Amino acid sequence: MRRGGSHSVYNFSSGPAALPAPVMQRARDEFLNFAGTRLSIVETGHRTGAFSAVVAQADADMRALLGLGDDYAVIFLQGGATLQFLMTALNLARDGQHCAYLDTGYWSGKAIATAREVRPVDVVASGAAGGYTQVPSADAWQSFDAAAYLHYTPNETIDGLEFDFVPDTGKVPLVADMSSTILSRPIPVERFGLIYAGAQKNLGPAGLAVVIVRRDLAERAAADVPSQLTYRAHIAAGSLLNTPPTFTWWLVGMTLAWVREQGGLEEMDRRAIARSRIVYAAIDESGGFYVNRINRAQRSRMNIPFGISDDRLESHFLAAAEEAGLKQLAGHRSKGGLRASLYNAMPVAGAEALAAFMRDFAKRNG
Ligand SMILES: *Cc1c(COP(=O)(O)O)cnc(C)c1O
Repeated sequence: MRRGGSHSVYNFSSGPAALPAPVMQRARDEFLNFAGTRLSIVETGHRTGAFSAVVAQADADMRALLGLGDDYAVIFLQGGATLQFLMTALNLARDGQHCAYLDTGYWSGKAIATAREVRPVDVVASGAAGGYTQVPSADAWQSFDAAAYLHYTPNETIDGLEFDFVPDTGKVPLVADMSSTILSRPIPVERFGLIYAGAQKNLGPAGLAVVIVRRDLAERAAADVPSQLTYRAHIAAGSLLNTPPTFTWWLVGMTLAWVREQGGLEEMDRRAIARSRIVYAAIDESGGFYVNRINRAQRSRMNIPFGISDDRLESHFLAAAEEAGLKQLAGHRSKGGLRASLYNAMPVAGAEALAAFMRDFAKRNG
C-alpha cells in the first residue's frame, strides 16, 4: 500500500493486519461526517437509522460473498475468535456429548484447551509429532460419529499450515475457525455448521468476530448455558445485545464492500495464489538460504513463516526490511523466525517487493 512519501510501505502483520487502502482513505474522509450526519461514527448511537444501515449492509454483503441462505444467521460479536473457542463448545454440545477436534497447530491447540474447560473433548488426530508441518491424513483420524461437531482450523496462522480440503463429516456438523482465511477463497458453505473469524486479519480492525451459524444449531444450547453466551440470544438481539464497537463494524462493512467491488472471492483466491507463489518461490529458489518446513501442498497462502538457515541473520533481515518499507515481518513470539502475512488487502506488488528484497538480501549475505 502506498502511504505518502516517495516509496511504498507494505504491512505484513499477522493481525491486526493491513486494510485495503481505499477503505482507510474513505474512513479518513468520512470520519467527521458519517453518512452525511455531520457527526462522527464514533459519536453516533448504535440504534440510529444511520448505524442500522451499516449493520444491514454488512450482513447483506457477507451473505452475498459467501452465498449464504436464510438457514444461516450472521452474528457480529465482541470477544474475538477466542470467545468463540468457548461459545462453540457451550452451544453445540449438550447432555454429555463429546466434541471432536483436529489438532493441527497453535490455534487449534488453544481451541481444544478452551473447549476442555467446559465439555468433554476428543482429539481425533494431531500433527504434533510431526511439528505441525502437515495435516494428518483423513484415513488416520479416529471416528467421531457421535460427536456434537468436528472443529478444525483451516489455516493455522502461526504455523503456516492450510488445509487443502474440507473435512468430510457426514451428518456431524463441521465447525471452522476461519480467522485468517475467511473470504480468501470460495468455500462450499453448505458443508459447514458454524464458521467463526476474528475481524483483524481479513475483515477489518480488531474488536469484532463474525459467526456464521446454521440456525438449527444456534438453537441447540442447553437451558443452563447463560443467555449472554448463547447464539440464540445474540441472533434475537440482532447482534446488539450491548453496545457494539461501532467504528470497527463500520470498517468491516467497508472492507466487505471493497471485496465485492474487487470481484469477490474468486478474485481474492486468484490474488492469494499469486502472492503466495511469489514469496514461496523466493524461499525455494534461495538454495537453502531461507527455509519453510511445511508440506508443500498444504503451505498457507495467507501466512508464510520462514527462517534463515543462519538464524543470526534474522535480526539484520528485519531491520533491513523495515528500512525498505517492508513492515512487521517478525515471527510469532512463541516461534521466533520470520513470517509474512499476505491477507486480502496485500497487493500482489507487496509480495513482489518482498521477494525482490529477499533475493537481494540472500545475495548480499549468502
Ligand atoms: C488470530 C487468531 C485467533 C485469535 O483471535 P482473537 O480475535 O485474538 O481471539 C484465533 N484463531 C486463529 C486461526 C487466528 O488466526
